Amino acid sequence: MLSMAGAYDQLLDATIQHLEALKAAGVRHVPVSPETIAALAQPASQQEFHGRRQEEAKTSPVSAGPEQPAIQQSFFAPETADVLPGETPSAPRTPQQSPTEKAAAFAALRERAMACVKCPHLASSRKTVVFGVGSLDAQLMFVGEAPGADEDEQGEPFVGRAGQLLTKIIQAMGLQRADVYIGNILKCRPDTPGQSAGNRKPTADEMATCIPFLHEQIDLIRPKVIVALGATAVEGLLGKTLGITKLRGAWKTYRGTPLMPTYHPAYLLRNQAMSEKRKVWEDMLAVMEKLGMPISPKQRNYFLRG
Ligand code: URA
Repeated sequence: MLSMAGAYDQLLDATIQHLEALKAAGVRHVPVSPETIAALAQPASQQEFHGRRQEEAKTSPVSAGPEQPAIQQSFFAPETADVLPGETPSAPRTPQQSPTEKAAAFAALRERAMACVKCPHLASSRKTVVFGVGSLDAQLMFVGEAPGADEDEQGEPFVGRAGQLLTKIIQAMGLQRADVYIGNILKCRPDTPGQSAGNRKPTADEMATCIPFLHEQIDLIRPKVIVALGATAVEGLLGKTLGITKLRGAWKTYRGTPLMPTYHPAYLLRNQAMSEKRKVWEDMLAVMEKLGMPISPKQRNYFLRG
């Protein structure tokens, strides 16, 4: 029987062989998800693994290309910075990709998500997988919880009433939907067996199963700021911490990216108070400042009167 170290070496050799074959076929970038990196880092101590790979990197033909150091770094030296409660560790940086490579990687990711059946109950109840929409170069990414009936019907996130309000918020910031990226923690509509209408909150299991897709979306897009819309999105990203009332308006970090938690637009539809709209707007002003966007006096004063 193979020892743990033997099996590990075998896996490494197979990985190197595979990478060499890809390189011979002209592939120059290999997107690797943080989950894969974490899983790869499991069997050996990080120190031993890192040291051995640095030695091999000197001779390995896979390390000859100009992009390889970045792959080495993300593959073999995951960040282990101290993490505050409610924060998440930085994601290892994937190599910078050309627009064509990025589009191809995104299309491949989309294809995988569209065919996903990891949650059989959702795969059988959904009309479509709602992958996400917007610019692959977006500096700003909005993350909601899950598609509702309208989104399931149309295959696009945030197109129902809450979505229309989100669109207005984006426009009030001086942007269009096409300038940002909009996605959800869950790509399938949560099923509601026995009910003809209504939504339900995604379960922790469903969120954990689906979140790798969002991680890959974030890693490819590399937004400068993420806005988490509502308590469930915050819970899906940061885990169970404080309630959204306490969390909103205060910067967090999600895998190295500044994250602003704010209320879900559906909450603003239920609670029409100007004070609540102003809170969301103040969160968006903070986002605009973080992104270095111009803010007009009119924008500064939205929802202050009334
Ligand atoms: N609510 C969400 O959280 N996401 C959507 O896509 C639509 C409504």
